[in-house]
Amino acid sequence: MLTVEKLTKTYKTGDKALSDVSFTVPKGQVVGLIGPSGAGKSTLIRCVNRLVEPTTGAVLLNNLDITALPGGQLRRARRRIGMIFQEYALVERLTVMENVLSGRLGYVPFWRSFLRRFPAADIENAFRLLDRVGLMEHADKRADALSGGQRQRVGIARALAQEPELLLIDEPTASLDPKTSRQIMRLIVEICAERDLPAIINIHDVALARQFVQRIIGLRAGRVVFDGPPDALDTAVLTTIYGEEDWTAMRKAAEEDRDAERDEAERMVGLV
Ligand code: ADP
Repeated sequence: MLTVEKLTKTYKTGDKALSDVSFTVPKGQVVGLIGPSGAGKSTLIRCVNRLVEPTTGAVLLNNLDITALPGGQLRRARRRIGMIFQEYALVERLTVMENVLSGRLGYVPFWRSFLRRFPAADIENAFRLLDRVGLMEHADKRADALSGGQRQRVGIARALAQEPELLLIDEPTASLDPKTSRQIMRLIVEICAERDLPAIINIHDVALARQFVQRIIGLRAGRVVFDGPPDALDTAVLTTIYGEEDWTAMRKAAEEDRDAERDEAERMVGLV
């Protein structure tokens, strides 16, 4: 379980990015973090693992107070938090397998990792993870030979290799086409359910968030202005989060997406 308590972040420039943000994410729950640009989404995600240092407030992961940890202990605690990035952050020249194993680096003594020698159990586990994300036959390919969707799958497998207790996911589908975006979102949600993992996904695509996550937190100007199920995101709430921006277009896109997906499913089972 992740608990964020009265989190505030004021940057040195004086920008107040977060004000009194509090929420709890139970095990297995996937939260979509939405809000207009500059609302504080990236800052919030980065405050959870202290890539950005919060100004006040606390972050607790399964009762461990992340905000109170000194350097060495913070590094150990970070192993328990898997991050998945928009730009994948893979090592291009390494193979898919090596990229996944790099998720274990925090656990393997430096000299062994330097020689790229990982314990057999780690390698077996990496194969299982590659199988789970659908990349078994690509294990030996170089990362730079993969498509965007495949690269994101490697990112997911690498984060899981850490055996995390929490996933922080930053714009996972920003560089992907709509169909691949849906596949990646579905994979993330299924994996969190299987492993009882809590997750926060910073996602700019409201339609996609509504379709896949169980809970949405809406930020505006650093404050939580909505926290509830996707069904409760009505016109009034979206206007509170986004102001008068034209989010009706987003809703229409969501309906079209759902139709396309149903067609695809029907084709797969031979209905049409
Ligand atoms: P979002 O991810 O929702 O677009 P951010 O967390 O990036 O929002 O930004 C929230 C606010 O904090 C913005 O006003 C932004 O300008 C400011 N901000 C973000 N990063 C920094 C930084 N490194 N230094 C100063 N201000 C920052």
